[in-house]
Amino acid sequence: QYRSGSQIREDFLRFFETKQHRRIHSSSLVPANDPTLLFTNAGMNQFKDVFLGAEKRDYSRATTSQKCVRAGGKHNDLENVGFTRRHHTFFEMLGNFSFGDYFKKDAIAYAWELLTSPEWYGIPKDKLYVTIFAGEGSVPRDDEAEQFWIAAGVPRERIFEMGAKDNFWQMGDTGPCGPCSEIYFDLGLEAADQPGVDVPFPQDEQRYVEIWNLVFMQFDRAADGTLTPLPKPSIDTGMGLERIACVLQGKISNFETDLFTPLINRAEQLTHHRVEKDSDIDDRSRASLRIIADHARAATFLISDGVLPANEGRGYVLRKIMRRGIRHGRLLGQEQPFMHEMVYAVRDEMGTAYPELHETADRVAKVVLAEEQQFARTLQLGLSQMNEETLKSGALAFRLYETFGMPLDFMVDAARDAGIEFDLVGFEKAKEEEQARARASWKGGSQKTAAPVFRDLAKTEFQGYKLLRVDGAKVL
Ligand code: ATP
Ligand code: MG
Ligand code: MG
Ligand code: MG
Repeated sequence: QYRSGSQIREDFLRFFETKQHRRIHSSSLVPANDPTLLFTNAGMNQFKDVFLGAEKRDYSRATTSQKCVRAGGKHNDLENVGFTRRHHTFFEMLGNFSFGDYFKKDAIAYAWELLTSPEWYGIPKDKLYVTIFAGEGSVPRDDEAEQFWIAAGVPRERIFEMGAKDNFWQMGDTGPCGPCSEIYFDLGLEAADQPGVDVPFPQDEQRYVEIWNLVFMQFDRAADGTLTPLPKPSIDTGMGLERIACVLQGKISNFETDLFTPLINRAEQLTHHRVEKDSDIDDRSRASLRIIADHARAATFLISDGVLPANEGRGYVLRKIMRRGIRHGRLLGQEQPFMHEMVYAVRDEMGTAYPELHETADRVAKVVLAEEQQFARTLQLGLSQMNEETLKSGALAFRLYETFGMPLDFMVDAARDAGIEFDLVGFEKAKEEEQARARASWKGGSQKTAAPVFRDLAKTEFQGYKLLRVDGAKVL
């Protein structure tokens, strides 16, 4: 039967409550105790000190639905969004944690029970695959995990080995680490890279989606690389809510679940752009709507958690996300501010699970609107000049940057969407030349040493004229 995203979240937390886990609220997207981390990007972040033994809690088992953002830093999925069916900048990670309490055997048995028991998620076993750590360097193959998966009821031929890149986790260069098991779901031929062609697991990346990662923290890595077994091994797991919702709602894309469709519908209304359900010509528009829905969630939650747009650090990533959303609105023909309205749609969908949104929505919408208005002024001048030719030539792109303040990342992103290779080398070269010229003219001490603002004005006229004459190139 049909299950909403909210029910799926609730069922996860309830399942682990029946296994004596304490339900803990999501922590903020701004990590409280870890300045090395850009944004909270996994459920375990808020428990880092507990895993390290530096902090004690009055429970040894916890379960959460954690707000996560992966847009910058070690995990950066920003570029993926809109182009894969399974990556978001903001997503919710469902997790269960054991702090030196149960270990591998129970973690595996719980995961399998929740996924396959008809009383819980009820996924057919023949749609699931499991991976174990293959062993690499001095770390042995995870034979234990294999045994426990088999004991839980997974046929041996559905268990695959993976190397350290996918199946070995570490908190840092030293400290707790250990092998992982990932659970994959077979979305079927309809989702395959080449629909109709049966390619076995794990070769087809579209068809097989990773839904859950179980980390078995069992070693302590010393500075010289040696591993010692932890006296009390721990468990950290993470499952993307949007991915499990996709599976349980019988879809092949996270964006087709009820976690996204209301937001996409709202984005259609706000951009006055309705796409035909099965039309190929509308593929790009559909991607734009997905990006707007995704970025609206990320911007809303980030600002709600205290991040403000800025030119560096966290605020810069937020700004980049908002500008990308705004640009896709423009691709759909919406030149007026609209993203701030999306904030209320996000609150309406997610306010029950994250009540803080009811408190913050008005403030968040104001911040988004101010950013939209400010950015509109930049775009008004620059966007009409941006086309295939300016993006292909670093020198022309640099003029756009200099003359109209068009942000570099914005142009790089636009080029990527259009399948054009941005000429970054040429851009940097033009920038260096300009800086050298500026330095030279300052040294000269003659008339040429007009303040930069006057030099810029002079250039505006000349370059503006030149850019307008770029003929025949498609405006993006
Ligand atoms: P992938 O290989 O698909 O990028 P991952 O291995 O990087 O995923 P983990 O770090 O293992 O992801 O995170 C645990 C779970 O969180 C994943 O199994 C997946 O369900 C979910 N997840 C990870 N990244 C994203 C994302 N960008 N958007 C949505 N869900 C995600
Ligand atoms: Mg990833
Ligand atoms: Mg992975
Ligand atoms: Mg993983």
